[in-house]
Amino acid sequence: MEMKDIATPSRTKALLNQYGFDFKKSLGQNFLIDVNIIHKIIDASDIDEYTGIIEIGPGMGSLTEQLAKHAQKVLSFEIDQRLIPVLDDTLAPYDNVTIINEDILKADIATYVHQHLAECDKIMVVANLPYYITTPILLNLMQQTLPIDGYVVMMQKEVGERLNAQVGTKAYGSLSIVAQYYTETSKVLTVPKSVFLPPPNVDSIVVKLMKREAPQVQVDNENEFFKLTKAAFSQRRKTINNNYQSLFKEGKKNKALIAEWLESSGIDPKRRGETLSIKEFALLYNNLKKFSELQF
Ligand code: SAM
Repeated sequence: MEMKDIATPSRTKALLNQYGFDFKKSLGQNFLIDVNIIHKIIDASDIDEYTGIIEIGPGMGSLTEQLAKHAQKVLSFEIDQRLIPVLDDTLAPYDNVTIINEDILKADIATYVHQHLAECDKIMVVANLPYYITTPILLNLMQQTLPIDGYVVMMQKEVGERLNAQVGTKAYGSLSIVAQYYTETSKVLTVPKSVFLPPPNVDSIVVKLMKREAPQVQVDNENEFFKLTKAAFSQRRKTINNNYQSLFKEGKKNKALIAEWLESSGIDPKRRGETLSIKEFALLYNNLKKFSELQF
């Protein structure tokens, strides 16, 4: 008998009953019960039989199953031990899936990728993310030197909008800058609450982030650069001049030096962080070397 897709209300409910599973809100457990949404996610991911997939949070395997049908290999990290026997059962027909029962924020991803996805032509991260840790997951993956080509990921709408925000908009901030430094971002689709069990309290969006061949701008020290950009948004309504007064270690001449640094970089000190492009931030950062007294 042909089994129904896991991403259907009937199969998901049957599995919940069979395993006596109750959702843990604290782990962001909202399972997809609409296979059409999953097909759209997969279409956007350009997966072929030579593609390796990293998935975060397979749940009962709704997305994992469809990924296994299209990709060469799927490497999937699930923190909830109660889901491991469920996944052993639902994914038994697929021999190209490896489930790792670990916290994605603590796992040694580089080693697992090397062990399981080394022979794949390209590697995509495809996931319906646990929303409570969307930002740390993505920052952690982007900032490690992992052989990841891109991401097609579902998350809370507001976070997706921040990743994809253009300079000068309300959603633009330090998260937009980190994401767009490493990747080219685009929106794939917005997703109604009704396709999840249980429905989440927030709206959802699928975002695509494709790794750039080289970062958008050149900076010596990425962490320092991101610290500098972040500080420009510490109080969004304040000017960069004001926000930067509190970034640098106290010094008698700081006020004048900060003004000189901004002006010699061609940036009006009265501008707000949200009006500065990544290129302008890079200009500021690179020009800071001439002002050795300004330390943070
Ligand atoms: N992929 C499934 C689906 O779409 O039906 C489930 C998605 S659900 C939004 C998020 C999943 O991430 C849950 O299965 C949850 O247990 C898992 N999860 C939560 N925190 C995690 C972490 N730190 N590391 C790995 N998985 C995690």
